[in-house]
Amino acid sequence: MKKIQMVDLKSQYDNIKTQINSAVLNVFESTAYINGPEVKEFQKELEDYLNVKHVIPCANGTDALQIAMMGLGLQPGDEVITADFTFAATVEVIALLQLTPVLVDVHPDTFNIDIEAVKRAITPKTKAIVPVHLFGQCADMEPLLQLAKEHHLYVIEDNAQAIGADYIFSDGTKKKAGTIGIVGTTSFFPSKNLGCYGDGGAIFTDDDNLAHKLRGIVNHGMYQRYYHDVIGVNSRLDSVQAAILRVKLPFLDAYCDARRKAAEFYNRAFANHPNMITPTISDFSTHVFHQYTLRINNADRNVVHQHLLENQIPNAIYYPVPLHAQKAYADVRYQEEDFKVTNELVETVISLPMHTEFEEEQLKFITQTILDFFNK
Ligand SMILES: *Cc1c(COP(=O)(O)O)cnc(C)c1O
Repeated sequence: MKKIQMVDLKSQYDNIKTQINSAVLNVFESTAYINGPEVKEFQKELEDYLNVKHVIPCANGTDALQIAMMGLGLQPGDEVITADFTFAATVEVIALLQLTPVLVDVHPDTFNIDIEAVKRAITPKTKAIVPVHLFGQCADMEPLLQLAKEHHLYVIEDNAQAIGADYIFSDGTKKKAGTIGIVGTTSFFPSKNLGCYGDGGAIFTDDDNLAHKLRGIVNHGMYQRYYHDVIGVNSRLDSVQAAILRVKLPFLDAYCDARRKAAEFYNRAFANHPNMITPTISDFSTHVFHQYTLRINNADRNVVHQHLLENQIPNAIYYPVPLHAQKAYADVRYQEEDFKVTNELVETVISLPMHTEFEEEQLKFITQTILDFFNK
């Protein structure tokens, strides 16, 4: 059996090696390393895939969030509501821009931002809500959009983990995750569902004016060379990464299917187990399983974690500390009883190996090792 990896990037590369190598060598030969034709072509291909008017490539997913917030003209002191249970990048950029992060609890089934908690957190200073489509499944966007409309708030989707997922509205229409709010962002970090071989990110919007602003902000605030109209940043997707992403984008749907197949294997093995709660798939979103995350029930999650490591099964705790309890983001206004779900999740979640290149033997070994652990 091949060694089990949390994310098997090597096997994935081996399967597309010829195309990747030739795409990369072409960029080397072209010397168009920055803002070359590959970047423009990738931008168009991603716009088509997502069915969104504008894709603005940038250097990484964290920059994408920051630039999106700059583009919306959010001002110091504006309150931005986001989920307590997510990667820190989301809250980090809010704080960096001197906006006021307002963390709220998540829903126990989807791990995504709790709409009722958002409602309670809205104040006259609230300007934006940042739902994170965590682990590959959309937050419930329809009620969130409704709430945002009532209170004149921007909805910024952090879609670093759910590229390729569909949100399904109550009338049956679908939209790609990241293209539902005024603006959406993603990351092409290697382990993400659409990963490049370094850093990369992008911003999505259907709004022509916002897209224009964002294109200037990523390029030092220039709309005309050497005329700096606004304060910008330097945030580019480089041509080598764009060339790699152009090879991988046509495989994205197949990659999502491969992840779903692995998730189904896990689900079947763990169905109705007294010690494991398998991921819930909501009726308003498809799931692209950036992570396959179990909740451990009536057992010590940390012991399970150790046991799997001892059996050469990589696994991870995403995330071990709620953001409201992180030193950098602590705030006297936060009350523990407002974070009941997150506080429980950080103690009980465990993410199993998840990628596009499993051998069935590996999935059998992982599931059997876990089932044996609970049966002993
Ligand atoms: C990965 C990730 C980011 C940041 O992406 P980078 O490209 O690493 O900057 C932001 N938000 C979430 C939810 C992520 O998972």
